Amino acid sequence: MKIVLLGPPGAGKGTQAKFISEKYSIPHISTGDIFRKNIAEKTQLGLKAKSYLDAGKLVPDEVTIDIVKDRLGNEDCKNGFLLDGFPRTVTQAEALDLFLDNKDQKIDTTLLIDVPKESILERMTGRRVCSSCGASYHVKFNPTKVNGKCDICGGDVVQRKDDTEVTVKDRLNIYDEQTQPLIGYYKKQNKLSTINGTGDINEVFKRVKISLEAYLDDNNKN
Ligand code: ADP
Ligand code: ADP
Ligand code: ZN
Repeated sequence: MKIVLLGPPGAGKGTQAKFISEKYSIPHISTGDIFRKNIAEKTQLGLKAKSYLDAGKLVPDEVTIDIVKDRLGNEDCKNGFLLDGFPRTVTQAEALDLFLDNKDQKIDTTLLIDVPKESILERMTGRRVCSSCGASYHVKFNPTKVNGKCDICGGDVVQRKDDTEVTVKDRLNIYDEQTQPLIGYYKKQNKLSTINGTGDINEVFKRVKISLEAYLDDNNKN
């Protein structure tokens, strides 16, 4: 299955992505994780991307699109993939469609994780992430078992530099201006499924599964 996860920063995309990736055996591709890894390793891409991430601004489309195309060309994406944090602009979505179309492929479905703005600030300022595997935790809603250590890989769990109140507000504005239009873009293609992202993490995943199973059922019938 080829899936796109949509939703504002802090909606729980990364959290749900880990579950989906495991259950449906498809790679989780997070552009944010790719940028952060490159910044940590001080690669050329990392040096280019750093100022944008620090400021909560979008990395330019040309740079981002090339990285995703490159990643989707990997062998592990042959039977599907889960995109988290990409596309974030209509230009990116169009480039993705064109890239897949040229290979006679298409996005199957997009899941919009819907969370009211009021909850987002608390989710993001309390977020902690594993600096090694990218897993997302929350000081209150999803704490690590051992303080400061990732449950999955034992890596150091830290606060992201861009998860401060000021940067979060800027990122939400950018979401409204540049990413929100993608809801209409995928609705028009009949590919949008809205998931209620409030409540317990496992409850949200149940809703995700119901939506994906419904999609699979429909497609087996056709
Ligand atoms: P969040 O999980 O809060 O939505 P991400 O980890 O997806 O954040 O992204 C972090 C930062 O990486 C963004 O603020 C932006 O600077 C950059 N980034 C990630 N994905 C994209 C993209 N598709 N286009 C441009 N910039 C991106
Ligand atoms: P995104 O990838 O959309 O930016 P994350 O998956 O990183 O979002 O989640 C943002 C923060 O909210 C993290 O601290 C995460 O642990 C927490 N979180 C995710 N889902 C829920 C939920 N259903 N209820 C409460 N907190 C959640
Ligand atoms: Zn980890």
